[in-house]
Amino acid sequence: MRCPFCGSRANVIDQVGSKLATCPTCGHFLLNDEALRSLQGDPSWPRTRKDLALALRWAKRTGMSLYLPSADAGCQLIELFDKEEREYWPERAADALEKAGPVDAPWNEPLWAVASKLDLTRAEAGEFVQNLVQTGAVRVEPCEPDPPNTAVYPKQESYRWVKCK
Ligand SMILES: [Zn+2]
Repeated sequence: MRCPFCGSRANVIDQVGSKLATCPTCGHFLLNDEALRSLQGDPSWPRTRKDLALALRWAKRTGMSLYLPSADAGCQLIELFDKEEREYWPERAADALEKAGPVDAPWNEPLWAVASKLDLTRAEAGEFVQNLVQTGAVRVEPCEPDPPNTAVYPKQESYRWVKCK
């Protein structure tokens, strides 16, 4: 079976009125059937689904108990995740990008750094950084390679990520 949130292949055990899931990404969680139906029936489900997958992953890492007895509990978990964790993502991502220093491919290695810092997949990190660029938080600019690469011709381009004010 698939995890209802991230879509990974998961081990899902049906219990009376709820499901006990073990997902490689989201961890173990107990989910009330009614809660899932209610979440899925809401027009905001595509977004809630994504948010819950991220919130569960974070909760797993922090050792929180993962019982979702109701749709409200799901929303509360997302709220907590936003407040305690996701709020700091732009700053942490910008730091990781900046620290990556001069690189040939700014959309390659630095994104792995962001992915590892925020516990995201490479694709999720890419999407997140794209957003940061769109909102003007960070940008790529050409720079001198480090160390200066004088032996190579044609001169290789280097880029680095910078935070915008
Ligand atoms: Zn999952």
